[in-house]
Amino acid sequence: MTYQFLLRNEPFELDPQFESDLFEEKNGNELEFAIGKKCKNDWCSPNYIQWVQKSLNQLIKTGTKLREDGFHDSLTLRAIKSFQKQYGLKPDGEFGPITEKTLISKGASRPPELKQLPCSPTKAETLIEKLNKYRGNIPLHILLGWIEIESGRQIGRITNLCERGYFQIYPGEAKNRGIKNHQLLSYDEDHSIQSGVKLINYFIARTNILVKKYGLPNHGEVFWKVVKLHHWIPSGPEKILADMHTHGVKPSSWAAITSYALDLKNRGRLKKKIKRDPQQGIHNADEMLRKAGDWLKKLEANKSLSKESDKSAPELGWEAYYGNSDEQEFEIQDAPSVPMLLNCKKTLLGDTLCVKIGLGINIAPNKVDKKTGKPTPDAKFFKIQPMTGIFIPQAYVPKKEVNIIIYLHGHKGAYPGNAATIDDYWNGSKFPFFALREEVSASEQNVIFVAPTLGPLSQAGNLTTAKGFDSFLSKILAALNKHFVSKSSQQEVKNISRIILAAHSGGGSPMLRIAELQGSSNTLKISECWGFDSMYGEVEKRWADWAMSHRNAKLFIYYYDTASRSKILEKLSKERNLQNVCVHGWKKKDFADWVKTQPLLKKSNAGPHFWVPIIYLKERIQNTPCRVKQVASLSQSPARQREVILRFPSHRRMTMQTSKSPFLVHNYEFNPTAKYPLTEVELYKGKIKLASAGLPKKGNYVVIKEAPAVFLPEIIRKAREIALKDKKKDIAIKLNPDTWFRQFTRITFLGRRFKDGQYIHIEMAKLLKTIEGEFIKILGSSSAEKTGDILLNNSKEGISGSRKTSSTATFSMHMFGLAVDVNYLGNPYIESENDINALNNVLKSAALLMNTEVLAYKKETRGKFKDRFDYVQALDTVLENYFKLLDSPTELLKYLRDSQSSDWRRLTLSEAKTKIQSNLNNLAGFLARGKYKGYFKKNAILNFDKRFVVGMEAMGLHWGGHYGDMMHFDMRPTGVGYYIEKARIAYSKNVKEQARYLLREKKYGEYTPDKHFQNIGQRVAALG
Ligand SMILES: [Zn+2]
Repeated sequence: MTYQFLLRNEPFELDPQFESDLFEEKNGNELEFAIGKKCKNDWCSPNYIQWVQKSLNQLIKTGTKLREDGFHDSLTLRAIKSFQKQYGLKPDGEFGPITEKTLISKGASRPPELKQLPCSPTKAETLIEKLNKYRGNIPLHILLGWIEIESGRQIGRITNLCERGYFQIYPGEAKNRGIKNHQLLSYDEDHSIQSGVKLINYFIARTNILVKKYGLPNHGEVFWKVVKLHHWIPSGPEKILADMHTHGVKPSSWAAITSYALDLKNRGRLKKKIKRDPQQGIHNADEMLRKAGDWLKKLEANKSLSKESDKSAPELGWEAYYGNSDEQEFEIQDAPSVPMLLNCKKTLLGDTLCVKIGLGINIAPNKVDKKTGKPTPDAKFFKIQPMTGIFIPQAYVPKKEVNIIIYLHGHKGAYPGNAATIDDYWNGSKFPFFALREEVSASEQNVIFVAPTLGPLSQAGNLTTAKGFDSFLSKILAALNKHFVSKSSQQEVKNISRIILAAHSGGGSPMLRIAELQGSSNTLKISECWGFDSMYGEVEKRWADWAMSHRNAKLFIYYYDTASRSKILEKLSKERNLQNVCVHGWKKKDFADWVKTQPLLKKSNAGPHFWVPIIYLKERIQNTPCRVKQVASLSQSPARQREVILRFPSHRRMTMQTSKSPFLVHNYEFNPTAKYPLTEVELYKGKIKLASAGLPKKGNYVVIKEAPAVFLPEIIRKAREIALKDKKKDIAIKLNPDTWFRQFTRITFLGRRFKDGQYIHIEMAKLLKTIEGEFIKILGSSSAEKTGDILLNNSKEGISGSRKTSSTATFSMHMFGLAVDVNYLGNPYIESENDINALNNVLKSAALLMNTEVLAYKKETRGKFKDRFDYVQALDTVLENYFKLLDSPTELLKYLRDSQSSDWRRLTLSEAKTKIQSNLNNLAGFLARGKYKGYFKKNAILNFDKRFVVGMEAMGLHWGGHYGDMMHFDMRPTGVGYYIEKARIAYSKNVKEQARYLLREKKYGEYTPDKHFQNIGQRVAALG
């Protein structure tokens, strides 16, 4: 027999060998199932099961009666088995002609007619096309592997448990997951696939919980294997991971999980807990991924198969998946990358675009059970129109980068109605309190206001997944360019610079989930979150945590109905010294008074809750400071502050702030069981100069010297005192001068090793490891090393920490093990006046040659660069371009001819080369790069990806680049580092004062610091 015969209804269009390999591999000895004979009867159809149940109830007199509902459950299965046993049949619980005949011979009535199940595997091409339609963010090969292992692509396959369809969904499973019409899973391809995707999304959501709870990796093979493990038995994975957790074993890899679960001792215990042998599930997951891997290869080899309808859909590969919750419905990809324009109402000022963007959720209920989150029995379902509004105020001028506000509306029941779109919602003539566009316009800021249509209860679909959020934003950008910018032939908008999330009422829930998202590069751009009476549910701590871990972002919470939770957040923020949180609300009486002055408000029946967004929106866009004494009246006149630009916290300002009013104790969550081998570092016992006064030549010289072995523990002790004064017991306990220098360790960071003899303190190690984990998540790459390659521009250099002894630096954070130098060769320390002069001379030469603006290095960043990194990067680029001319004489010649500077124009090519080379040599010498001239020529003064520096700062480190030390990061804003920083500043100030005091007293000579000096110093000051 040939395969053509086997698959006679499915003519080959693909490589026949490929098809037949798969078929053979999967079906093996089950070939007879699909061929020749009749296809299998659908024994699982509800009317047949009902007949079985009825018959068994008649024939088996003992035991509990079966419910005659046509639903195949475990009781029915058990009854069938016991019937089979009783009459000497094979007790497999499966129905077939023999069991049926026996039932009839014992007195059962005639069974209903049976449908025949479809019996050949679906063509790969057809399947892939449909999978692409519905799979959302799930990688294609995972789904193919899943189907392959479950049904061998045979939609008609059923088991004795009545599992059905491509994904072999059990009736009970279908019921629990709200999959309607279980029988249809065997006949309708679309339904079968949509339901499978729905089920897998549910397993993904459960797996994500395990990621959070037990530190399971959130990507790669292990992630997907655990997803699959849920199909074996949904509670199984949690039970295994919980057991591992109590025994202190981390589920860091699949091997870790399987070797644990299959270890003889554990396996027995798990068997009891799960009531199944973990081996089964593990084997099935392994097989699924093996098949998926095969598919991945096939897909890569046959690109036409894997064609995707949407560029923003995930590419093939083992990429991370940050899936979402139950809420996720079937996703239908928007085919074109530029969203279609829909009709909608305009406002007087500015432009409104309504565009078609699906959120991967078609319908949503208007009522859910608060506990379970599931629709209540009386819930109604409403279609969510795939319409997002983009409002472009009149003041908007397209620039390369755009700032956007994403507004998430509240529940729609009261206003504007459950079925309403955003076009209905922000219709100010109908609902004056939702006239948001008018406020955006009045603010006169260069910002775009974006509002998607959400569900009746603000259901946001895949907007709250990393990929969904990223895809949404890229569609907004595409729409803005296509439907607005290009029409006025203005500059194309390339990037989103800053994102503000705003939400009213129930929109606060998706807002929080977006803010907390991991795995989206866009979340780094979230600079502010605005909650307008939106603190519902237990969210106070989560917002406080968010504010703590996003210290360069701001949180504004305005309340009316949500006063109590808002106030809790306010309290938490005060406790944690979170200066980036602003909570504000009115007393009800004040509000009532204010209402009297507002004609619009008086006319409307909507309560104050609905007015909260509009009251604060404009002042928020205009970046008015937090505490608002008096609330501005709603805009009827044009805003006055024309010149105010939307001021986002700049990276530089952020750090300046943190050194003054930092947010203590960075919220790091590290693996408590990880082992850090500890080492004691040897402190230098020789005395070094700490401070001096006077001039040695004149003989009026005072110098204070001390050994690091003495003053370093002294500073730790002082830090502990300050922490105790601040009531930070958990930090104080770590600041122990006796043990501090015994708790040093070595780690790898972003796949880079520490240089020989280099150590860091364990607190720094933990923070770095946490940061590393976040970076991996944000970039979604497969390993720490690959993440490092991206962030460190492929430099493989080792990292410096603290040296065992130090005879040079005095109070450096390196000495406490709380600093690292990264990419030393590509990031010099521009320190002295001489360094800066040398650098600026070269920058000037370069600018004169290349006819560009003369940039100069300054200690402070001013002018057009608000961001320190961008500023240094700009200088770096000038240098690199300049040095590059050494290797491209044609370019150089061109510049020489065009240069406006006679200095350059009169030079010959070789003279010009000599000049550039001498600039290079000279600067390399100043910046201690003389030995690495080649490297310096290529990388100049900065060699990081911007995300590295921004990320390091956002997650608790201070970048030395602010004062010229490009390679340096230390822990001064965070935890123990914050107190050591305070203590070392105090100590240094103290010894300097001592030196000056001794000089005034003419007590010249060499001293060691006086511990009791503070008192003397105060007395002297008082007398003077
Ligand atoms: Zn350093």
